[in-house]
Amino acid sequence: MSSSAVVQRYGSTGQVQSIDPYNDKGHVSIYRSAEFRREIQQREREAARAKRDRQQAARGAAKPAPRTVITVDTSRARSNIDVVRMCIRELRWREYAMGRRDLKCDVFWHGVNVQDYSSYYTGQINRFPGMGEILAKINLFRTLDLMKRIFPNEYDFYPKTWLLPHQYQEFCAEVTGNSSGKRKMKKTYIVKPSEGSQGDGIYLLKDPQEYCLHGNRSHVVQEYLSDPMLLEKFKFDLRIYVTLKSLDPLEFYIAKEGMVRFCTVAYQRPTYKNMQESYMHLTNYSLNKHSTTYNSSEREDEGSKRTLSSVLNKMASLGMDSSTLFEAIERLVSKTIVAITPELRVAYQAHIPAGKPGPSCFQILGFDILLMRDLKPMLLEVNSCPSLRTVCEQEVGPGVVTYLPCLKDEEIKRPIVRDTLLLVAPKEKLEVLKKERKERRKVRRRFRSRGSNVNRQSNGNCENASIDKDNEDTVVDENMKEPTQATSINVISEADNASESDRAKSVFDHVEKRPASTPIALFRYQDEDGEGDHTDADAEVALSSKPCARFDEDESDGGSYASDSENETEEESCLKQLYPAVYQAEYERLRIFEKVAHIFMSSLGIRGSWRIGLTGFRMFTRKCRLGRRKLTSAAIDILYIDFQKKWDYMNPDRTSGLCYQGFVDAFLEIARRKFYSVDMVEMLENLVDYCEANMVHNSHSAPYVNRRLLGRRGKNLPLRLSYDDSLLTDVDSMHISVSSTKNQRYKSTGVYGSTRTLYEPKE
Ligand code: ADP
Repeated sequence: MSSSAVVQRYGSTGQVQSIDPYNDKGHVSIYRSAEFRREIQQREREAARAKRDRQQAARGAAKPAPRTVITVDTSRARSNIDVVRMCIRELRWREYAMGRRDLKCDVFWHGVNVQDYSSYYTGQINRFPGMGEILAKINLFRTLDLMKRIFPNEYDFYPKTWLLPHQYQEFCAEVTGNSSGKRKMKKTYIVKPSEGSQGDGIYLLKDPQEYCLHGNRSHVVQEYLSDPMLLEKFKFDLRIYVTLKSLDPLEFYIAKEGMVRFCTVAYQRPTYKNMQESYMHLTNYSLNKHSTTYNSSEREDEGSKRTLSSVLNKMASLGMDSSTLFEAIERLVSKTIVAITPELRVAYQAHIPAGKPGPSCFQILGFDILLMRDLKPMLLEVNSCPSLRTVCEQEVGPGVVTYLPCLKDEEIKRPIVRDTLLLVAPKEKLEVLKKERKERRKVRRRFRSRGSNVNRQSNGNCENASIDKDNEDTVVDENMKEPTQATSINVISEADNASESDRAKSVFDHVEKRPASTPIALFRYQDEDGEGDHTDADAEVALSSKPCARFDEDESDGGSYASDSENETEEESCLKQLYPAVYQAEYERLRIFEKVAHIFMSSLGIRGSWRIGLTGFRMFTRKCRLGRRKLTSAAIDILYIDFQKKWDYMNPDRTSGLCYQGFVDAFLEIARRKFYSVDMVEMLENLVDYCEANMVHNSHSAPYVNRRLLGRRGKNLPLRLSYDDSLLTDVDSMHISVSSTKNQRYKSTGVYGSTRTLYEPKE
């Protein structure tokens, strides 16, 4: 009888009928055998268990966390769950695997990019809004190209890139210009789908005609870097983990440990013959794991996946300068993050507008870097959701795959996640936890020292005991006469050791006879490493009075503080701060586009928008007083329409307005017309300064207010009102309501109905 839900009964015709006891509304009167009943009982038990679990989960979700406990919502952690859970246990924070009803957690961990931020009001989310789109290959390389236009010497760390099909003609022109006629000598290019990952849809080509356009899918095509650094004849790339902690102020960290992924077929320069060999040219783990030559060695300096430190050590042993290499990687990372920050800020304000209580964001990013033969690092892509899995797939048979824990992955990823969590956790709570831990240690140390004193005493007793026992002709080891603390513990804990059990028992018995407040309790306390059996009354009181008791500590959960260990040294963070600590002074000047982003955001008519409409664009030129020289109102309108057309290919949804990158393009054009200089940086800086000065001036000298908006009672008001430019931008669209209250405050209702003082007459 199968364990299906189908139950059979005899019908009136005497035939056996199949019924489902749960779907059938009538009673099942006749069961053919006891098996049916067993099955029903089994199902009822399962249903009851499921109900109990649900109730427990609901109770857990409603249970308020103590104030000092750091809480993490992992209900959407998906494939990250293993590593995040491991870290939460290690840190002894509290996990809410089903989320919390009141949505109040210190950290929300998502396995994929978040679409809707509207339901979050507090805490830290591990995803920045828009990060996925901003780091899509086509977007990333366009952003880097923009930076390269202004800072050509700084942004030379990625292969020459074209965006297809948009730049197909330029790509063809480049290839034709490069080809020396000889078929063999032709340069190789690599085509990658913009939204692709894990090597999906990638191919090499030498002729632009070989490019296949798949529907609407956009691609990037890059110069193929055919001269990479090889180790043991294999091509490899580096996965560097970076934690972007915040945008304002800009703060990011690089993980000192990373992953190195190797190809599984010895490398040769691309030829028409070997161009299709993905195991030779692509380093993706997801591809190479299927290769018959994939080496899954668990040693960190062996196999197709290795730790970054082992590879750097190997390079150092081969005479290469690995510290200079790591510095070059740090610089590459810093410049890339500086390049994407303006757009991230735009996306951030669109999802979490200023003034709206919203979560803060942080994110772990994965940089894929290829090393050239001369050790120059070249950026291939940045992953917004790098894999944080700590298991590896293993094919145990044809088409049968199992997942096994992968120590190398865990060794690399767990510290990154743990230290990132520590970085973003509320500082006050961390402080409290730190204090509690210190207190706990102190208490433990106190009892330990008391324990050792008592030890000595008890060892004295041991001696006596041995003497006594001697008198009773019992053989006692000489070592027992002056045992150290450790040996005394051993004696007790190794009581099951047959050869010593009698001696141990004699000691134990002797000590057991002592009053309850004396050492035996301390022995046990020590033996359990201070966490388990607190039989000593003082210890009990001392420990339970600590707030740490509120952790609901469950020793069986495997969690343990690294810092709770005997040698009390705080583990060094695996994250190194790059910005502001190391590169702020050097790269502050590269952040000029953040100012442009600010101008863009303050010109968006509607808060929460990504795109600027014609009205917003006109307002921007008016506020910045750009329409004076060389730029008439008509010219401004034409400029807007031209750039909207130019950037239309980036707007498949045909949303109206100009995106931020299109705005930057138009901004550069205005700079060229108004402040032309051969030095692009100077030209851009001049326009930015000019705009900022006018915006500040406008905010102080106040915009002109249309009297008609003020109603009858506003007729006597001065024509100029002052407002905070950074908060309220679209004067034309705000409604001004005037109330002649006693203290003569005039208030305006902004776009979101927030009331803000606009004008305060001086008494
Ligand atoms: P995906 O997101 O699909 O993994 P990547 O850009 O990371 O795409 O490329 C996949 C692999 O292709 C890289 O790991 C690298 O080995 C190889 N690759 C990508 N771009 C280049 C390039 N320009 N030159 C040489 N190899 C490249």
